[in-house]
Order: sequence, then structure tokens, then C-alpha cells
Amino acid sequence: MKVRVAQRKMFLAGKWVDRDQTITVTNPENNEAIATVPAATQDDMLDAIKSAKRGALISAKLPVYKRIEIIQRAATFIEEEREEFAVTIALEGSKTIREARKEVERCIQTLRISAEEARRLEGKTIPFDQSSGNENRLGYYSLFPIGIIGAITPFNDPLNLVAHKIGPAIASGNAIIVKPATVTPLSALKLANVFSKAGLPNGILSVITGRGGEVGDTLVTHPDVRMISFTGGLETGTEIAKKAGLKKLSMELGSNSPVIVLNDADLNQAVESTVSGAFWAAGQNCLGVQRIYIERDIFKEFKIQFIKRTTLYQTGGKLMESTDMGPLINEREAIRVENLVNEAIKQGAILECGGQREGAYYEPTVLTNVPADATIAKEEIFGPVVLLFEVKSLQDAIERSNDVNYGLQAGIFTNHLQSAFEAIQQLNVGGVMVNDSSDFRIDSMPFGGVKGSGLGREGVRHSIQEMTEPKVVCFNL
Ligand code: NAP
Repeated sequence: MKVRVAQRKMFLAGKWVDRDQTITVTNPENNEAIATVPAATQDDMLDAIKSAKRGALISAKLPVYKRIEIIQRAATFIEEEREEFAVTIALEGSKTIREARKEVERCIQTLRISAEEARRLEGKTIPFDQSSGNENRLGYYSLFPIGIIGAITPFNDPLNLVAHKIGPAIASGNAIIVKPATVTPLSALKLANVFSKAGLPNGILSVITGRGGEVGDTLVTHPDVRMISFTGGLETGTEIAKKAGLKKLSMELGSNSPVIVLNDADLNQAVESTVSGAFWAAGQNCLGVQRIYIERDIFKEFKIQFIKRTTLYQTGGKLMESTDMGPLINEREAIRVENLVNEAIKQGAILECGGQREGAYYEPTVLTNVPADATIAKEEIFGPVVLLFEVKSLQDAIERSNDVNYGLQAGIFTNHLQSAFEAIQQLNVGGVMVNDSSDFRIDSMPFGGVKGSGLGREGVRHSIQEMTEPKVVCFNL
């Protein structure tokens, strides 16, 4: 399909603006330009922050019922244009049209949950008379918005991860400035458009399309920005945390998620679920299955079935209904993944299937015999590559699962309750999925990691908690 190159504007405090300098957004499948967006400058970011100061006051005063109405209306607009949203995600990013449609449905959910959670901005009364001398004191605390939130988002879920920041921010009475990934700004701009149509007052939301290296520091270091809500890689997150200074930080970072498959597991279920978890969005998924630890007795059978299922995976055009997996976000990323695999093979890993690259496409790839000290076994691959390890026991699997600097989510397949609880107790992660792969999430659950996988939790109610501060009120009667 030949796509017209659209000239998109960015959303600066309620106004759609363009700039002489632009960034070209390309389709990673064929490198065709699909749109241009303004290349924002530091001055644009400063303008957005200045307007957000006004926006934060307006947002804090916006009655909860109005916040709910606006967010619900925005969700309804997305429902009405769901296929256009899905095509935008599929064209600018890596996802196939089937994967993109799921992201759109998740985004609608995220916004609907945000609207519901706005009703629950609740405080509590405080029994001040619990310490002597305070018998005549009465009071409570309630939640106040933090002010201006700087949101920085990655390319792999270009719509729903933006909604995870905008929905809770508006629900809790904040202003928010989004800096989407440079390679995938179009979904975020479409989201801004539905909020604008839904009647969001000017100044509460800006979507600034600039490069992280150009406009990032201005957003991150500005004293009026009271919180940085970042989703992206560990390296960028660490750099931002160092620069941000005294402000709230929410860091949703990467991982190399483990899944444990025990002898008593339902093998078909484990294979089906881990194949999907490994290759969803071409493996560019923070929850993606990277390391599978399989108990000795079933290792061989699991491996045969896993490879059989993997080789059935259809890669191809993202808009084709039959395609299971699209390209990586660009050729550079595919080469990075290819190099990691080749390095592991040189160190003794066995290539069981895949391993071929064509442009930005990299085949679904399975490795065994990967040495524990190979980069690919320790770091995040963020590509369609999965490592199968034979383990002698649950304890062995748990220790190896924990032996990395990440800890977002893990999965365990077992029909033995005690084994499941042992894993839950000992796995050092933000979530353990029993009889599901690590790649399971609903948008209202607390979501986030430990160690290098991040700080704080998202998932609408939990984001609202991070985006508000309790203020104590006490009457001396
Ligand atoms: P990235 O390279 O870290 O970029 C993320 C965002 O940070 C982009 O908007 C980027 O802008 C911006 N950025 C880069 N340098 C910056 C700077 N100096 N100051 C401010 N912002 C800056 O990550 P990515 O490649 O887009 O995404 C992949 C990573 O995200 C993976 O590690 C994945 O696991 C993680 N992720 C985590 C979650 C989670 O919820 N835990 C979810 C999804 C993805 P530019 O695009 O302009 O460089």
C-alpha cells in the first residue's frame, strides 16, 4: 500500500503548531516515509512548560465529573476510529495489524479505567487522639495533584503507554507534557487530538515531538516539572534519574523476563503461551519472554514443540491479516539483535531455528546451550530471540531467573501449588504469572519492576497514587 506523506503538527498546550524543521516518520517494513512531524526545540519545550503551569491550575480546579466526561468522551472517539488508530500503530511501529488492534482496545480500557478511578480520589480521616494531648483534634488527609508531569514514552506501545500517563494525569487533576519516541509520534498525536475534541481545556496536555537528546533535558531538569514519568530503556532511565534532581520519578524500564516450566506443567499450554510471549511485537516488549528454564524430564519434548510452533510463525507485511510478526523498529536494531545472537553462537550457543535477517526483519530465533555469561543471557535482547535452558530443579530455575540485573515479571508453569508459592516467594520481580508467560498484563494491575526494571508502579490507580500527594488537614477544636 502506497501511503501519502502527511504533514502532522504537534499539540502545544491546545494549539496545533508546525515548524520549519521536521522529523520524517518512516515505516520500518520498507523505509517509506509516512509522515513528518515538527522537530521541536528547547524553546518549544519551555513554552509547553509555561502553558502547563497555567494548565495545572485549570486541571486541579476541573470538577471530577468533568474530568470523567472528558476522558470517557476521548475513549469513545477512539472506539469510533479504532481501525484508523490500529493502522497508525502498525504503520509507524513494528506491530502487525492484529497486534495493533489489541493495543487500541487496551488503550480504550486504560482510559475508561482512568475515568472510573477519578471517582476514587479518596482520603481518610485520621484519629489524632491516638497520641495524648490531641483529644480535641480532628482531621483527615486528601489527595492533591502534583502539578506538571513530564511523560517520556518508548516506541513499542506508541498508543497505550501514552494513555497510561495521560489518563491518570487528567483523572488526578494534573497537567502533562508528553515527549513520545521520535520514531513513533503519530499515535500519541492522534491521542492528543481525541482529548482536544473531547473538550480538554488548553494547557493541560501537550505532545511535543522532539528528539530526546534535544528537548529531553529541558523537560527533565525544569524545576516546575514536578514528576518525570518515564518508560524506556535502563540506560536512558538512569541518565534521566541522575539529571532530574528533586522531583518524583516513575521509571518503567526493561527486562529479560524468565519463565519456568516444571515437569508437571501442561506442556501444550506452556509452549503456546511462551511462543506468543517471546515473539509478540517482534520481541520488542518489556514483558517479552527471553529466558525459559525447563525441568530436565520435559526439556527435550518442550524444545521440539517450541521449535515446531516457532517455525510456523509467519513474518511479513504488517497490514496483512495472516502476518504473525513484523519487522523490528529499524534495521539498526535488527543488526544489533543479529550481532548479539552471533556473539552467543561464537561462545558456544546452538542456533535451533531462525537467525536470519533481511533489512529490519529478524526471524523468530531459538537458542540453546547459551553460556551463562553471554551478553544475551544477562541483558535485554528486545528482539525475537528466546533462550531455552535445562534445569535440574525449581530451586535451580529460581536462582538462575534471579541472577540478572532486571526483575519486571516472571512466569511459572506448574500444577503443583507448593511449587507455585515457592516461586512467588523467591522470584525477585514485580509480578509472577502462574500458568501464564511473563507477558501477561491488564491495565488496572500494579505494574512495574525491581532492580534495573524500574521504580514505582503504573496501572491506572497506582499511577494516580504516584501522581498525587496526600495533604493533611487538622482542626484544633
Ligand atoms: P529509549 O531509547 O530509552 O527511549 C525512550 C524514550 O526516552 C524516547 O522517547 C526517547 O526519545 C527518550 N529519550 C532518549 N534520550 C533521552 C534523554 N536524554 N532525555 C529525555 N528523554 C530521552 O527506549 P526505546 O528504545 O524507545 O524503548 C525500548 C525500551 O523501553 C526497552 O528497554 C523496553 O523494555 C522499555 N519498555 C519498558 C516498559 C515498561 O513498562 N517497563 C514498557 C515498554 C518499553 P527519542 O525517541 O527521541 O530518542
